[in-house]
Order: sequence, then C-alpha cells, then structure tokens
Amino acid sequence: MDKVRGILIGRMQPVHNGHMEVIKRILEEVDEIVIGIGSAQLSHEVKDPFTAGERVVMMTQALAEIDVDPSRYYIIPMQDINFNAIWASHVKMLTPPFSIVYSGNPLVKQLFAEEGYEIRQPPLYDRINLSGTEVRRRILKDENWQELVPKATADLLKEIDGVNRLKNLSVKEISDI
Ligand code: NAD
Repeated sequence: MDKVRGILIGRMQPVHNGHMEVIKRILEEVDEIVIGIGSAQLSHEVKDPFTAGERVVMMTQALAEIDVDPSRYYIIPMQDINFNAIWASHVKMLTPPFSIVYSGNPLVKQLFAEEGYEIRQPPLYDRINLSGTEVRRRILKDENWQELVPKATADLLKEIDGVNRLKNLSVKEISDI
C-alpha cells in the first residue's frame, strides 16, 4: 500500500515545543511527515534570526530527542516566492509527494485547499507561550525561554551564540530610530 504522507510547514524561528507536539500528533496519523522549513532565505533579522541550516539542525536533533525514526521524516528548507497563487506548486516541486496538509496558518490552509489537498488543523498547544514570537521575546528579556523549546534548540543557540545574535540584531542604529 502507498505511504500516507502529511506536510507541516513553519518558519520555526526557532523550533519550539508547540512544533514538536504537533509533529508527534501528525506521526500518529500518517506514515511519514514532510517538515518544510519556511522562509528559508531569511536569517539575521529579529523576527527571523536563524538560518535554514541552523533550523534544520534544531529540528533534526529535536526529533532524535523524542526518538522519531529518521526513516519517517524529511526536512526540507523552502524559500518564499512572490506569488501566493503558485506557492503550493512550488512546495510540491520541492517535496516528496504528500496528500494531507497540517497547518494552523490561514493563508497556508487557503492556498493548499484551493489546490485540492486535504487540510487538517492540529490542536493548539499552549499557543500563548508556545510561539516563536514568545520565545524570541523571552530571549531578548533574559526570561526563561529554555522551558519553551527542546534541548536541541537551546544547544544550537549555545553553539552559534544565538542569544547574543538576537540581542545584537535588536539594537537599532541611530539612523533607524
Ligand atoms: P510557524 O513556525 O509559526 O508555525 C508552523 C506550524 O506549526 C503552523 O501550522 C502553526 O499553526 C503550528 N504551530 C505553531 N505553534 C503551535 C502551537 N503552540 N500549537 C499548535 N500548533 C502550532 O510558521 P508559519 O508562519 O505558519 O509558517 C508558514 C510558512 O509558509 C512561512 O515561512 C511563510 O513565509 C510560508 N509561506 C510562503 C508563501 C509564499 O512564499 N508565497 C505563502 C504562504 C506561506
């Protein structure tokens, strides 16, 4: 029988516990998951501090932490394109074939629904705290961000001095103020 594959696309800036809960849930429903690292071209910005490669490391190690069999996932960085109307085709070109799109993002759901894909909305896990925005806010304020992310994300930030990167990026030049 053909494998059932689902896709989850996210900026993962950074990978946090909400992403991992969603992935665990999806793996209960499909044989394989395609994890799209969205906005792969962006890095070194306050909203998008980490490179696609850094996000791949966070995700790969975080999946290892929860003992996901590597034969069950594909991690694929994908750049944004200027044309929403053909974005679903762009994603399709980059990924193994999939039939189910998992997303809570209204634009993502709309674009794939128009192409005839089955859309499933995963339940929200503590969305107030488990969001990239909250993790980045806590990093900048020296609050406890580690409790919101897998150990893999904390380890990678340490390796690349990611806390200082984010803090440096948040400093506005006089000319920007
Ligand atoms: P995200 O990292 O915020 O979230 C990824 C997924 O995880 C989403 O489906 C979200 O609903 C889910 N999620 C996050 N936290 C959760 C929690 N606590 N509980 C349950 N689910 C949770 O990323 P995103 O903003 O949804 O990423 C979409 C990507 O697609 C972006 O990179 C965007 O640029 C890209 N995109 C590109 C185009 C284009 O290029 N034209 C068009 C549409 C989308």
